Amino acid sequence: MADWLPLFHRFKDEQFIIFGGGKVADRKARTLIRFNKKVRIISPDLTPALQELVDSGKVEYLSQPASVDHIVPRALVVAATDHKAVNAEIASWAKAAGCQANITDSPDLSNFIFPAIIDRSPVLVAISSSSTTPALTRYLRNMIDAALPRRLNELTAFIAKLRVDVRQRVADTKQRQSFWRKLMSGPVPDLVLTGKEAEAQLVADKALADNEGKQGQVFLIGAGPGDPELLTLKAVRLIQQADVVLYDRLVSDEIMAFCHPDAERVYVGKARADHAVPQEGINQLLVKYAKQGSTVLRLKGGDPFIFGRGGEELEELAQSGVPFQIVPGITAASGCASYSGIPLTHRDYAQSVRFVTGHVKDGSADLPWNELVHDHQTLVVYMGLSGIASICSGLIDHGMAADTPIALVEKGTLPEQKVHISTLADMPAYVSGNSISAPTLTIVGQVVSLHEKLNWC
Ligand code: SAH
Repeated sequence: MADWLPLFHRFKDEQFIIFGGGKVADRKARTLIRFNKKVRIISPDLTPALQELVDSGKVEYLSQPASVDHIVPRALVVAATDHKAVNAEIASWAKAAGCQANITDSPDLSNFIFPAIIDRSPVLVAISSSSTTPALTRYLRNMIDAALPRRLNELTAFIAKLRVDVRQRVADTKQRQSFWRKLMSGPVPDLVLTGKEAEAQLVADKALADNEGKQGQVFLIGAGPGDPELLTLKAVRLIQQADVVLYDRLVSDEIMAFCHPDAERVYVGKARADHAVPQEGINQLLVKYAKQGSTVLRLKGGDPFIFGRGGEELEELAQSGVPFQIVPGITAASGCASYSGIPLTHRDYAQSVRFVTGHVKDGSADLPWNELVHDHQTLVVYMGLSGIASICSGLIDHGMAADTPIALVEKGTLPEQKVHISTLADMPAYVSGNSISAPTLTIVGQVVSLHEKLNWC
């Protein structure tokens, strides 16, 4: 964590006192003058360049050796003499007088440091390496400077003018933030930067007019099984636009990082049987935020329509007249199967695949066993870990061969993914003997035997 806090100060009457008359003093004096600060240089001698600066009347000058008497109340003290010991002494005078000090080459004795500056007033970019590598700081300064658009000033003026209008016409703070977020990610900045201010104004006017009759909307988005690269392009685009995000336990931090930093984040996830916000509450929250005019993102692990209760949430929205969009996600079955080399169907082993939930009620999984026990069918069980013993015995009892291969894919598609392979007869004991944690997906069928050959991930 950096020690230094970057702030922009408006020093008006404060006196900057620079001790030293060499190159470093010269550089710092010129920076301060550029920003119209009051500078007094104290040094028995000066470089010719500094002498010129003094002669121009832009700085005060006392031709004296440094002394404690030079410190005046509230001054900002810069020690830039060639002598480390003198600089350290100046630091102690400043400290005793309660003055802020910048001591050359002694960050430990300094309260402030000079950043490298890019001045495109009113835009200022200050860069610092916390006094560790000035060469790098200058390198970054040049890189950033080159990357800033040539017409940045025009863009700044355009936005500043528009801001007055937006303040008047969009009263609500959150809506205003949302308006700016969309405006700045649309064509307006580029139009201004390429000199098409009139067109940019038309686009901004239209956005303002549209905003006045604006009603909120909900994006129900599948976040996939975990690996952020499995998000769809559409999901990423919409995630970035949201004002409010309601997210689940299965949605990782890396995926949440696509959200706009100002977006409000509401955790509504559930740990099994322990509901953070009950489903009815989630439905109502979605409606509430949308009715306030917000763009609401409902992020769900996997696909929202596969064991995701997405349907229930949408029914409520439809009833309340809130518009919505649905973006499918890669469901855990697809993600886990691909990342563990287990094809869900295969011409030789399985012509169909069935997704079921293994959620346990009253200690056992209540499943339509006879429909599940089929040759040439792959069975994928979501939420099946805690009921694994009852699932395996249920299948065997209804005629599935006890040596049918079964895989548990733990934390599928994530860097911590583990694939556990066993048979229906042995898996319950395997699970009791190993610590396996959620989320885990169960795959049953002959296709599991392909894992050994196809597991290249
Ligand atoms: N809508 C989600 C499923 C939600 S139900 C989807 O389409 O994937 C939650 C169950 O999904 C978990 O109990 C687990 O069985 C499965 N699951 C979700 N993500 C998983 C992952 N990364 N690895 C293994 N199983 C996962």
